[in-house]
Amino acid sequence: MTETRTELEKMELPDKEGRFGEYGGSYVPEQLQTILDEICQSYEAIKKDETFIAELRDLNKHFTGRPSPIFYAKNLSEKTGGADIYLKREDLNHTGAHKINHCLGEALLAKRMGKKKLIAETGAGQHGVALATAATLVGLECDIYMGEIDIIKEHPNVVRMKILGARVIPVDRGTKTLKDAVDAAFEAYVKDPVTQLYAIGSVVGPHPFPMMVRDFQQIVGQEAREQFREMTGKLPDNLVACVGGGSNAMGLFTAFLKDKDVAMFGVEPSGRGFKDGDHAATLTLGKPGVLHGFSSYLLQDEKGEPLPVYSVASGLDYPGVGPQHSLLKDLGRVTYVTASDIEAIDAFFELSRTDGIIPAIESAHAMAYAVKLAKEAGKGKTILVNLSGRGDKDIDFVLETYGKDYGL
Ligand SMILES: *Cc1c(COP(=O)(O)O)cnc(C)c1O
Repeated sequence: MTETRTELEKMELPDKEGRFGEYGGSYVPEQLQTILDEICQSYEAIKKDETFIAELRDLNKHFTGRPSPIFYAKNLSEKTGGADIYLKREDLNHTGAHKINHCLGEALLAKRMGKKKLIAETGAGQHGVALATAATLVGLECDIYMGEIDIIKEHPNVVRMKILGARVIPVDRGTKTLKDAVDAAFEAYVKDPVTQLYAIGSVVGPHPFPMMVRDFQQIVGQEAREQFREMTGKLPDNLVACVGGGSNAMGLFTAFLKDKDVAMFGVEPSGRGFKDGDHAATLTLGKPGVLHGFSSYLLQDEKGEPLPVYSVASGLDYPGVGPQHSLLKDLGRVTYVTASDIEAIDAFFELSRTDGIIPAIESAHAMAYAVKLAKEAGKGKTILVNLSGRGDKDIDFVLETYGKDYGL
């Protein structure tokens, strides 16, 4: 990568149209564009509003439990015999993942805009639970769209959402997973964008969502930068995060983009293999295209229709990816790699049994690559992994599907 000043500036996009280089933007019907412009204006206003900033800071601290700690995974590092592996413990947040960071922001924004209801899609159910939680807290209704396959797989989170007072709306079209849930939520939103706010679950969708969700998530990297330096006296040599839509990765990466000695790795799911329909490795195997109102790398057929995707991690199987990731890939600032189902499940058990932390299967993809990288990088180097969520939601599925292989 050549580090010209303009390239560094490029990484701090988007521009006014919500473009990250050639990616991002807004491809929606005119009626919806008017609403998105309003959301954008409201967001630009509140992000400088002292009351809003104080309110969000207070909730982050007293409700979510921020700052989340960094933990040195000594046992795993010693067993691996290479670089030292550190974990940013987003799994310890209230509701169990990083998603609460942007849900609180989106809920406060909706409240300020006078909306009555938050709606969203969910894959693993983590976004749904986080949003249902945030909606209840600020006094809004909440509708969550979820694929029927995911409803079965992520049963505990479905129950949680209902206990929290949200409506869970099953989606039975297509592959009955995340992309179909986004389609359904999008349709419901277009029908009534005035009283509802679509709180997108990642750094995807039309402008301003990729920017807004990233901004709410960047607290992860801001904290981590300080904490890591305090612990070790240096910045980490490598950052690793799993990439579904890309919000936990952008949350960690944003604070380090200008630190050219910090290498960054985004880990996509290669599922069962690299055949169409067996993976969701969008940046690795996709091509630029348009889906759900924005332009980015996309897994698509010759006609530009999104391909079916698959991953053992419900939160990662999406055929698109946040537009800023597409730019960071083209710039060579972030390296995108893959981990398979089997590698992720192995890492899931490994971290559980070395350091007593059960990671979400999504986060286990990042762990799988981190262990590989630790061996390559060698002793004396450091790796900071974003442990995006906890694995409690996955234990029944893991027991049923992989239990025998791991002595359960
Ligand atoms: C949703 C989810 C992800 C994937 O979403 P990103 O936007 O890519 O971060 C990763 N980990 C966990 C625990 C999740 O719940």
